[in-house]
Amino acid sequence: MKKILVTGGAGFIGSHLCEKLLEQGNEVVCVDNFFTGSKKNILHLLDNPFFEVIRHDIIKSLLVEVDEIYNFACPASPVHYQYNAIKTIKTNVLGTTNMLGLAKRLRAKFLQASTSEVYGDPLEHPQPETYWGNVNPIGIRSCYDEGKRVAETLTMDYHRQNNVKIKIIRIFNTYGPRMAANDGRVVSNFIVQALQNQDLTVYGNGSQTRSFCYVNDLVDGAIKMMDSKDEFIGPVNLGNPVETPIIEFAEKIIEMTGSSSKIAYKPLPQDDPVQRKPDITLAGHELGWQPTVALEDGLMKTIEYFESKLKKEKIKV
Ligand code: NAD
Ligand code: UDP
Repeated sequence: MKKILVTGGAGFIGSHLCEKLLEQGNEVVCVDNFFTGSKKNILHLLDNPFFEVIRHDIIKSLLVEVDEIYNFACPASPVHYQYNAIKTIKTNVLGTTNMLGLAKRLRAKFLQASTSEVYGDPLEHPQPETYWGNVNPIGIRSCYDEGKRVAETLTMDYHRQNNVKIKIIRIFNTYGPRMAANDGRVVSNFIVQALQNQDLTVYGNGSQTRSFCYVNDLVDGAIKMMDSKDEFIGPVNLGNPVETPIIEFAEKIIEMTGSSSKIAYKPLPQDDPVQRKPDITLAGHELGWQPTVALEDGLMKTIEYFESKLKKEKIKV
């Protein structure tokens, strides 16, 4: 039995990861400051004697004994990571340093949850891991984009300088049940708006594209990466290469929910990437991984999740 630390374990992806790692017979320590995460996301795991929750902010040092660390702590939605930009950078720089220091002391394996945002507004399409990106260092998204880029650098330097066993995954837009309804991301916004027959807020003209990966696929990829041979450290892209313009995505959600909502066009936020699609050739070769859940199937599960949430509470997005 391995003892595994998941930072950000009460968040959207983190909670699915904790669940899967427990299912596989591991002992899991979930660390979270509950900024964007919620106890509700892990309530169903609390009875498991092999699951432990620690309320802790990773920008402070942490002493636990574990074999592996999945570093997922960081708000992921633009609204939440811009809410306290300095805190976002601290989480990525100081928090990641702390977790790497812990990995070094324990000789634990460390996996960094990086992001497609390291490619910024990409000029190469689709994005392979070899692309260095096109990132604005001083814009409103920089706290996250540059924070995650430094986190990758730190991860590589702890590997080169201190022989820490590391893995870096670059996660592309991931969705599914337990996304925070109010965090402003497109999947939750559109579904919650459609289910309440409110207008769907499309930013810009909706021609910008994203590629959406269902959370179970992403979690499988992350665990495959952690369990892969030590020499393969990444970075590796994990995402679903099916690319969709946002306007088409809005229309799909309206159709799937049978909603009477219309489209309301809103200004495009600053530095919003025009296009995004992962090249997942490397993940295929090295991990034998590719997504298996079709967009419609994953969306159906996500719509059902928000439907049942909306039966209990009205949600304002
Ligand atoms: P989320 O906001 O639901 O989860 C983040 C979790 O981290 C939350 O539980 C939050 O409370 C916790 N947290 C934040 N700062 C912390 C701190 N300083 N100390 C301790 N806990 C802290 O977001 P998510 O979508 O589950 O994303 C998880 C990770 O995956 C993030 O690192 C994110 O950057 C990365 N990622 C996600 C996506 C995506 O599409 N969901 C894409 C790329 C990368
Ligand atoms: N978006 C939108 N309406 C919304 C929320 C987001 O049109 O209500 C757009 C946003 O401008 C971006 C895309 O959807 O082009 C994905 O946004 P999200 O915040 O989910 O993630 P990002 O990939 O930008 O980090």
